[in-house]
Amino acid sequence: MDSCRLLVVSNRLPTSITRNGEQSWSTKISGGGLVSALLGVKNEETKWIGWAGLEVKDEIGQKSLTNVLAEKRCIPVFLDNDTTDKYYNGYCNCIIWPILHYLGIPQDDCFAKNGTYKAQYDAYKKANKAFADVIMEHYREGDIIWIHDYHLMLLPKYLKDRNSNMKIGFFLHTTFPPSEIWRTLPEGPELLRSLLASDMIGLHTYDLVRHFVSTCSNILGLESTPKGIVDQGKLTRISAFPIGIDADNFINTVQTSEVKMEMKRLKEKFGGRKIILGVERLDTIKGIPHKILAFERFLEENPEWRDKVVLVEIGVPSRSDVPEYQKLKIQIHELVSRVNGRFGTFHQVPIHHLDQSVNFPTLCALYAVSDVALITSLRDGMNLVSYEYVASQTTNKGVLILSEVAGAAQCLGAGAILVNPWNTPDIAASISRALTMPAKEREKRHQHNLAYVKSYTAQEWANDNLRCIHETIAEAQIPK
Ligand code: UDP
Repeated sequence: MDSCRLLVVSNRLPTSITRNGEQSWSTKISGGGLVSALLGVKNEETKWIGWAGLEVKDEIGQKSLTNVLAEKRCIPVFLDNDTTDKYYNGYCNCIIWPILHYLGIPQDDCFAKNGTYKAQYDAYKKANKAFADVIMEHYREGDIIWIHDYHLMLLPKYLKDRNSNMKIGFFLHTTFPPSEIWRTLPEGPELLRSLLASDMIGLHTYDLVRHFVSTCSNILGLESTPKGIVDQGKLTRISAFPIGIDADNFINTVQTSEVKMEMKRLKEKFGGRKIILGVERLDTIKGIPHKILAFERFLEENPEWRDKVVLVEIGVPSRSDVPEYQKLKIQIHELVSRVNGRFGTFHQVPIHHLDQSVNFPTLCALYAVSDVALITSLRDGMNLVSYEYVASQTTNKGVLILSEVAGAAQCLGAGAILVNPWNTPDIAASISRALTMPAKEREKRHQHNLAYVKSYTAQEWANDNLRCIHETIAEAQIPK
C-alpha cells in the first residue's frame, strides 16, 4: 500500500473539548478501540474531521480551537446550536436512526420539539454541506476520504459534485433495513444515490450488505453484481466488515490492581449472589424493557433463585433531548420498580439499575465479575459490549446471552446462547441455563468467542476496510 493521507470524517471528533478562556481550551482524545484503530492505521497519515461538539460563535475562539486540535490531528467543523439540534437530535436521531433499525418514523411530538420535518432535513443538508466545505479546504489530490455513519449520508455526493476524482469510502456503523422499510423514508432515494457516489461502502455483516444491495435494486432500479451496485457503468463496491475491539486493552486492564480492587468491592457488595450484567445506552433499540420482563419471568418461575441473583443494569444516558428516549426512561423506571417491589426484601433488591455511565476501570471490573451478560437488543449494528464482556472474562468464563438480531450474533453465535428478544419465556429459560451451565461447557463456549474477539480486532477491521478501498480505486483505474 503506498503512503497517502487518510481523512477520517465522522459526526463528532474523538475528543472532549472544554473552553477555559477566550483562547484557552482543554481537549482530551477519547479512548476506545475505534479511535485507536483509525489513528493507528499503518502507512497512512491520518487526520480526523468532525463536529467539535460545542458551539463556538466567535472567530478568535474558532481559530484558537482549530490550532489546538491540529496538534491532535483533528480538524473541527463548526455548527450553530440551532442546526445541531435539528440535524442531530432531529433528522439523525428521530428519523434516520429508527428507520435504520426497522422502526417507523415517530409522529408529532418529535417534530414539535426539534423543528418540522422539512426544517430537520434542511438542517441535515446544511450540516453535510458544512462538512463538505471543511473537507474541500483541507483536501489534497490523492487523499482518501473515509466517511463514517448515518449522520453524513449526503456527504459523498456533495464531495464528488465538487471533485469527481476524490476517492471516498463510507462505513455504516448501524443496521440497514429491508427495502420496504427504507421505502417509507421520503428522502430514501436521495440518500441512496448520494451513498452510491462513494467508491466503497462497508457494512457490518453480509445480511446488511444484502439488504443494502436489494434496496438499491428495488428502489432505484439499479443492477447488482456480486461486488456491489452498478450505475451507468460505475461500480460502487459493497462489502461486509464486522467491526472488532482492542481485545488486549480489556485483557490487560482486568489484570490491573485498580480493577482487581474494584472487583473485590463489587463481589462484597453483592454478597455472593450471581451477577447478571446489562450495559447499554438507554436506547429504544437495546430492548431494555424486554430484558427486565424476561428477568421478572425468570424470578417468577424460579423462586429458589430470588435471593441468589442480581441483575446489574447500566443504562448509559443517551439522546435525552429526544421524546422517545424520555418515554423509554420512564418505562424502564416503572418496570425496575415493579420487579424490585415484587421480589425485593428489606436487605436487597433483584435489579440494581443505574442511569449513569461508569468509568473504564469500573466497567472492566463489572464485566470481569459478572457470571452472565444479558443482551437483548431489538436491532444492533454489532454490539461491542458483547465483545468487551468476552475479552474481560478470561478468569470467570461467564456466559453470554445475546440477541440473535444483533450483528454480534453472527460472529459470537457459536459461543453465546442466542435468544429472540421478543421471546420472554425463552430468555427466562436461557438465564436459568446460563446460571447452571457446567464449567466445562462455559469454558468451551468462552474459548470459542475469545479466539474470535482476539483475532478480529478493531485494527484488523480498519486495515481490511482500507485495503478494500485501495483495491476498489486501483480496479477502477484499469482501462476497460
Ligand atoms: N460504554 C461507555 N460507558 C459506559 C458503558 C459503556 O462508554 O458507561 C461503552 C462500551 O464500552 C462500548 C460502547 O459504550 O464500547 C457501546 O457500544 P455498543 O456497540 O455496544 O453500542 P452502541 O452504544 O454503539 O449502540
